[in-house]
Amino acid sequence: MRQQIAAANWKMNLTYQQGEALLDAILKENIALADHQHAVFAVPFPYLIMAHNKLKGAKNFAAAAQNCSDKKSGAYTGEISVEMLQSINIKYCVLGHSERREYFSEFNQALAHKTTLCLEAGITPIFCCGESLSIREVGAQEGFVEAQLKESLFHFSEDEIRRIVIAYEPIWAIGTGKTASTEQAQEMHAHIRSLLRSKYSEATADTIPILYGGSVKAGNAKELFSCPDVDGGLVGGASLVAADFVQIINSLK
Ligand code: PEP
Repeated sequence: MRQQIAAANWKMNLTYQQGEALLDAILKENIALADHQHAVFAVPFPYLIMAHNKLKGAKNFAAAAQNCSDKKSGAYTGEISVEMLQSINIKYCVLGHSERREYFSEFNQALAHKTTLCLEAGITPIFCCGESLSIREVGAQEGFVEAQLKESLFHFSEDEIRRIVIAYEPIWAIGTGKTASTEQAQEMHAHIRSLLRSKYSEATADTIPILYGGSVKAGNAKELFSCPDVDGGLVGGASLVAADFVQIINSLK
């Protein structure tokens, strides 16, 4: 069975104390995850050690970074390397979120490099892709996402690509309250899986988790996650409310 993941993306929200309280409230629920289910929390860098320490006792709960440097180490003031993440036992890193692409000029080539560094460090990249509204309006979304995947991921070997999680996040649905319909989500997820099948193999395409992101809420998670090619979600706003994110985790298949 494919891995299913409910991933929280806190972005630049919450104080340290609010973050601690949120994790405590979620952990208090004692959610029992099956072997193939995971709850991942992408928290701001200064909270990573705290989050890792709180989550490590709960089966299949883990902390994630929201980004990493495309440089290995050295004179890059303000950057965080994968080696630093590895040294505090972080096992996941979100890469290529549309906000990073838009506000911090992250392009497919640099993301390919970041993905390589994560894989070398044994960190699972949660690689984000997805089109803007103007691209969807002209029906060019499949080609756009295909180019993102080809330019950042398709040079990897079969063994390497199997260690990546893909998150499809249509930009027009992020933080807008406008969720993709289950048909739209399933259609793109099936397309991504068919690209993986053509480039690699049926077995590899069947192995890679593809998460949906874009206004996932407590009330729509179950329906979205029930799509055959949707393996969970990457969740912004609703991950900041304990009861909502608990319901989202409980919506995993
Ligand atoms: C995100 O940050 O990746 C996201 C999908 O945000 P939201 O759930 O708020 O749309």
